[in-house]
Amino acid sequence: MIKAPRGTRDLLPPDTALWNFVEAAVRDVFRIYNFHEIRTPIFESTELFARGVGEETDIVSKEMYTWEDKGRAESDKSQMLTLRPENTAGVVRAYIENKLWDRGLNKLFYIGPQFRRERPQKGRYRQFYQIGAEVIGPAPSGSESPARDAEVLEMLATLLDRLGITGWTLELNSVGCKDCRPAFNEALRKALEPVTATMCADCQRRAVTNPLRVFDCKVPADQPIIEKLPRLSEFLDDACRKNFVDVQEILTAVEIPFTVNDRLVRGLDYYTRTAFEFTHGALGAQNAILGGGRYDGLSEALGGPPAPGIGFAIGEDRLVMSLTQSAESVLRKPDVYIAPLGVGMNREAARLARELRRHDVIVELGDESFRLKKAFETASKASIRYVLIAGENEAQSGAFTLKNIESGEQISVARAELAERIRKR
Ligand SMILES: [Zn+2]
Ligand SMILES: [Zn+2]
Repeated sequence: MIKAPRGTRDLLPPDTALWNFVEAAVRDVFRIYNFHEIRTPIFESTELFARGVGEETDIVSKEMYTWEDKGRAESDKSQMLTLRPENTAGVVRAYIENKLWDRGLNKLFYIGPQFRRERPQKGRYRQFYQIGAEVIGPAPSGSESPARDAEVLEMLATLLDRLGITGWTLELNSVGCKDCRPAFNEALRKALEPVTATMCADCQRRAVTNPLRVFDCKVPADQPIIEKLPRLSEFLDDACRKNFVDVQEILTAVEIPFTVNDRLVRGLDYYTRTAFEFTHGALGAQNAILGGGRYDGLSEALGGPPAPGIGFAIGEDRLVMSLTQSAESVLRKPDVYIAPLGVGMNREAARLARELRRHDVIVELGDESFRLKKAFETASKASIRYVLIAGENEAQSGAFTLKNIESGEQISVARAELAERIRKR
């Protein structure tokens, strides 16, 4: 038997109904905030991620699916391609390549699969799904304004609330800017030097490649050391400090609760100012549902014009896991099973099915060779409320027998009134 590759899975009904429920709800929210959908390729040139995500990150150094794509002809150059491990780099590439600022398109969202060769563990998939959005480019919709950051955060709170996910926590920090961060990096490096040798292997590596990432460490023994490290908040310059206060004041004004977590960092140079995570208790230690932040230097890092930006990515797999709704509760069951009764009645049943479906009735269609008893059994097993009997007499008289499977009640309904009758609960 051929199985799905390790770390992948089939999303099957009825679970897919839950995924569609989530995606419909987020599309509704994006719409009222005037975000528009973008669909970028699932693979991009490897260089995009090396530059856009960062060569020294775990994602780029260990987790990407990369291959050499040979040309079709001898003369074609081969190129290195990678399945996208995230979508921000692709969106910003598309923004630059299509000069989206000229079209006033700077609020974009995406929904789709991403790929990382992660160590297999519960709830982690090598093909996983993200819902994300980016606000890129100049004012009025873009810009560096703290109003933008607060608006994105308020949108996310709205989104989680609409999905019925309660008990989330918004954690917020400012990671400063290219003016104030170097002094902090220097102080952090100095503070780490004498203690690094006693820390975990990951921290020892981070101390060299990307000291900020030390704050991500979850190893208990390292926590007392990390507690004593200098914090970015002590190094923010006046402009960054004011920006952070402004974001918080707007959030307070729109009644979005948050906590400041000064250990919340993002490791790459182009990340600036606001960084955030929404966490949810039900998900345990790995409890972030989504994360994001401002990335004012990314467009330039990818060879584009200066373009301030802020974005986020929601782990859709984990979002679905945090729902309280069941798949059954969002799934619409078939409304009626049409049972053709007698030779030649398949045609009449097909006509009836066509008429009812035009009225948005969900129809299952039997076959004239089936006995009526079998029709009732099939409908009952599939929790279909009604069986509609399409026999010759009914077709001639224009009134059809409709049997309610749950109550056993059987009534005669005129053809023109069938749809309304069936849809009525
Ligand atoms: Zn600054
Ligand atoms: Zn550590």
